[in-house]
Amino acid sequence: MRLLETFPERGGFTVQTNIDIKQVNYDPDRDLWIITSIDGKRFESRAVVMAIGGCRIPVIPKWEGMETFPGEIIHSSKFKNAQDFSGKHVLVIGTGNSAAEIASRLTEHASHVTVSGRTPPHILPKSVYGIPLIGIGVWTRYWPGTIVDRILSFLQRSMIGNLSAHGLPYPTLPLSKQYAINNVVPILYRPFVDDVRAGRIRIVGPIQKITGRTVHVLRTLTTDPGSTHSLTTLEPDVIIAGTGFRTGISKLVQVPGITDENDRSVISGDQEFKDAPRLYFIGQVNPLSGLLREIRLEAGRIAKKIKQQLAAGR
Ligand SMILES: Cc1cc2nc3c(=O)[nH]c(=O)nc-3n(C[C@H](O)[C@H](O)[C@H](O)COP(=O)(O)OP(=O)(O)OC[C@H]3O[C@@H](n4cnc5c(N)ncnc54)[C@H](O)[C@@H]3O)c2cc1C
Repeated sequence: MRLLETFPERGGFTVQTNIDIKQVNYDPDRDLWIITSIDGKRFESRAVVMAIGGCRIPVIPKWEGMETFPGEIIHSSKFKNAQDFSGKHVLVIGTGNSAAEIASRLTEHASHVTVSGRTPPHILPKSVYGIPLIGIGVWTRYWPGTIVDRILSFLQRSMIGNLSAHGLPYPTLPLSKQYAINNVVPILYRPFVDDVRAGRIRIVGPIQKITGRTVHVLRTLTTDPGSTHSLTTLEPDVIIAGTGFRTGISKLVQVPGITDENDRSVISGDQEFKDAPRLYFIGQVNPLSGLLREIRLEAGRIAKKIKQQLAAGR
């Protein structure tokens, strides 16, 4: 907050809060960006930095029959504490960090905790012999992906171990490829591993449909495309979807092609997109070296580039 409050005296900026931006449009005739807010305010700017985070719009998948489920279906972003679910059977969806940590915390209060997953997760230790994983991420940030993947796979196998007997097979895709597909970072929450191994968390495959209280899921989270999946049913009281977020960028930024099919920006840092001069995105990539570090680096590059562009009259 102090950083924001002191902006005006440090750089001549004005800071306005409580403004919800609805659209960002480029006017090619005037070579200007027009930014409009939900309540009708309008701003014009030569350059725009989209620092909107990656967690704007919570996503709950559409499961067949979900409207017939009598219990609560909530997104992980609405999860406050595990005590609220005392004595309940909770079905947690997803194999990312949110789902893993929520499931693990629930084991102390819920009667049953089941995790339904689609993709076997990469699980890594938070630190390796006292070196934080993020430090290893910084060190290997510009190494070839295949080498980093091999190191991480070795760490998972040697320090986390095989959880196949407990329903969690090793991932089929290396981390860099998996991340490129779904933007999911490895699980770093060790208690989840212990809970799975101890049977406090049951792992099943993805939801197929919901009929009233009954949730039909694949019995296992298998990576073998040739295996025949058998179904099983669960009767949870609550479903918590740890199924991530969308950025909402395609609606917000009116530049065709600026996002991929997952609504993620196709540029980041000081990269520029064709026909969208001086428009930048910060905080949209999440490398193993840590998002906060990446944001700090990107901020410097973007500021430098905009300074040069404005000085050159671009
Ligand atoms: C539990 C947790 C632990 C984490 N631990 C780490 C860690 O150890 N190391 C690490 O590097 N990272 C970590 N992260 C990630 C890091 O905290 C976030 O990635 C970082 O805060 C993102 O910052 P940001 O400014 O890009 O986005 P945000 O913090 O999401 O800020 C985006 C801002 O944009 C505003 N906004 C969005 N849309 C609009 C709009 N249309 N109009 C106006 N304003 C808008 C929002 O209100 C918000 O103020 C963690 C995240 C979580 C949730």
